[in-house]
Amino acid sequence: MFDGSRQSNNFTANVSGIGHSARIAISDVAMKGASLDEVRAVTGHEIGHYVLGHIWRMVITFSLLAILLFFLADRLFGRIARIFGSDAEVGDPRGFPVMMFILSLFGFLALPVQNYLVRTGETEADLYSVQTVNLPDAMASALVKTAEYRNPRPHPVEEFLFYSHPSVERRVRAAMEWKAAHPPAEKPSPE
Ligand SMILES: [Zn+2]
Repeated sequence: MFDGSRQSNNFTANVSGIGHSARIAISDVAMKGASLDEVRAVTGHEIGHYVLGHIWRMVITFSLLAILLFFLADRLFGRIARIFGSDAEVGDPRGFPVMMFILSLFGFLALPVQNYLVRTGETEADLYSVQTVNLPDAMASALVKTAEYRNPRPHPVEEFLFYSHPSVERRVRAAMEWKAAHPPAEKPSPE
């Protein structure tokens, strides 16, 4: 449990690290506001990120993306500098503002790609949680608590461009669809 309430009232948890340094951190806000089943469902989600190798996937894809951005910045630097009326080359300190412009522009354009990757991981981790912990109701009620700080029903275009997590509405629906498809085993009749 980490002292998340020092920074915000967000109901949040995360997993980070690799090997022996891996750990799941749950904000004290979430720990205080959640039922035991909600903590189980959320922990199942975070374990999913680790088990499914999302940390490595992020490290590798974001590194490749950064290499691509710097490669393009290098190739297009001269042309873009001319637009700003500068004759600076890529290694010239005078061209630094142009480099910052290029990197922020490309970073902005790459945002949907980045968000798409992260959202895919979130969907997979949600699925891992219901498959292993099988608490779709607790998953859904925990998700609803994140709607305090996250628009639960964004426009699909807004979600595609700017959301690092699938909408709360979509995630709750997925949990409920799982529940509908996996009814609890019938209890033996008490005779
Ligand atoms: Zn997650």
